[in-house]
Amino acid sequence: MLMEVDVEKNFGDFQCRAAFSLRTEKCGVFGPSGSGKSTLMHMLAGLLEPDRGVIKLNGVTLFDRQAGINLPPEARRIGVVFQHAHLFPHMSVKKNLLYGMNRIPTVERSINPEQLINILQVEHLLDRRVSKLSGGERQRVALGRTILACPHLILLDEPLSGLDGTLKYQIIPHLRRVFAEFSIPMLFISHSLQEMRMMTDEVLIMEHGLIEKQIPTDELAPTRMDNGGRGYTNQLNLEAIF
Ligand code: ADP
Ligand code: MG
Repeated sequence: MLMEVDVEKNFGDFQCRAAFSLRTEKCGVFGPSGSGKSTLMHMLAGLLEPDRGVIKLNGVTLFDRQAGINLPPEARRIGVVFQHAHLFPHMSVKKNLLYGMNRIPTVERSINPEQLINILQVEHLLDRRVSKLSGGERQRVALGRTILACPHLILLDEPLSGLDGTLKYQIIPHLRRVFAEFSIPMLFISHSLQEMRMMTDEVLIMEHGLIEKQIPTDELAPTRMDNGGRGYTNQLNLEAIF
């Protein structure tokens, strides 16, 4: 079992209760705005302490309220990518990319930076200041920096929501290639059904602070489509056909 989670957080007027086991490497957390997705993500990453419960990753206990275990974020080996890239503004793209990698022991550096830089297509940006990047470029650098720290799990909290339509669809192939190439388990958080279908194999459906269901992504009903219920969108490359 990749991850086992059973946690609870009470904000007074909002309660988050999430219990699930993660088996697949490409899992989504899908739910409307305000359903508790980010609350769950912060608990997993160690940024918010649950009121009760247990979190285990690869058999290692990250949090256990009763046993008094609460590993700090940097000891959890969980990478996070937020909606807006939090890059270091005073550093070049290259320094941002290598920041996390330089902070883990050499023996644990399992990812080749050149290979990743190539997949993310950021070679030409390496010497640039991050203030000179577009939104899509910033997200690619943020993802690269997170991956080079060789996390055991990556949490992506609506990483595409801040990008406009075209940019979003340009970045998805990069994301897919990175996760295919390096097989890093991820939890991909989004309220977009199209993103879920393109990025995940399995989905945790969150509603009103609860994980309602855990189903294969293929079984997400077309009625949940975020394009007005017009049905599925086929992502076919017609150039290859004509
Ligand atoms: P989502 O990411 O699915 O949009 P969130 O986890 O951000 O949802 O928020 C779920 C609910 O929890 C919201 O009603 C929000 O107002 C509430 N909430 C989130 N963080 C806090 C907090 N620190 N204190 C009180 N309420 C919070
Ligand atoms: Mg959120």
